[in-house]
Amino acid sequence: MTSRLLLPLALVALTACGETSGPSTPRSDTSYTVVVRWVGTAPSSTIQAAFTNAASRIQQIVTGDIPDAQIGSGATPFNISDCNASMTGASPLNEVVDDLVIYAKVDSIDGVGNVLGSAGPCLTRTVGGLTGLGIMRFDSADLNSLATNGRLGDVILHEMLHVVGIGTLWESKGILLGKDSATVRVTGALATSACANDLGGASVCSGSVPAENCENLTAGTSCGAGTRNAHWKESTFRTELMTGYAGATNVLSRMTVQGIADLGYTVNVNAADAYTVPPAALRASVTAAEAALAEPVVALPEPERPRFQVDGLGRVTRIRR
Ligand SMILES: [Zn+2]
Repeated sequence: MTSRLLLPLALVALTACGETSGPSTPRSDTSYTVVVRWVGTAPSSTIQAAFTNAASRIQQIVTGDIPDAQIGSGATPFNISDCNASMTGASPLNEVVDDLVIYAKVDSIDGVGNVLGSAGPCLTRTVGGLTGLGIMRFDSADLNSLATNGRLGDVILHEMLHVVGIGTLWESKGILLGKDSATVRVTGALATSACANDLGGASVCSGSVPAENCENLTAGTSCGAGTRNAHWKESTFRTELMTGYAGATNVLSRMTVQGIADLGYTVNVNAADAYTVPPAALRASVTAAEAALAEPVVALPEPERPRFQVDGLGRVTRIRR
């Protein structure tokens, strides 16, 4: 199968070792490769580094190649703006994607606060259901603010993990139980076992992992459609990276790594950070006094859900809901 590489405004291919290279011909390999392409003006070197670091971390966690995906064709290239209307300017795609390509845009949305942006899968493979194309779009003012208070790297990694599939592929993978209910849970066996057996969470992860239900949060904390159902439960897991709130400390636990494996990726569980589930006394709620002690919690944006899927012949179809 031939491929025609269409150069975006900027392109960084990251390898597992973290070095950068130019566009490369998709190849038969054994590693998982994340490529970030900037749409519009590339952001500051600080922001670019946060993306580079997040991609490198994910390539340490996901260790196995997934099948190449031909996306678009010469006759019908795939328009990236169909993923997100803000992505105008990206060249239409007719390419074999080796693992994951992320189109990223950082520009002015509404200043500091309010809308931070959005991120998630745009296109998944029909076979296996894993992400081939993802989008990450952010407000430059908010990213600069996050950089100032030291949380930029954590937030970009959190959002890139949504692109990989944490929180965004749970439903399509059939492992989200009780969506929109107070008892919403994630039934992935590996994440459940990691929580219960490795992280001291046997009492909270009996059979499944609690997902965010917007309860037990500090009064006034926003918790909307994007936070619910798409994150581990904040009042249970607190400092874990994939809760819906970024505090001063955000830890990528073995539960999240195994949550990636539950989606169908091959992972290295030793790439996780040290973490244990907080004791029961801390799990009742996130109190106002506690919130005041810590840095203010940042509500992360609503993740995108996949809009398209591509089959083995490169045919792209819209996912009906
Ligand atoms: Zn999130």
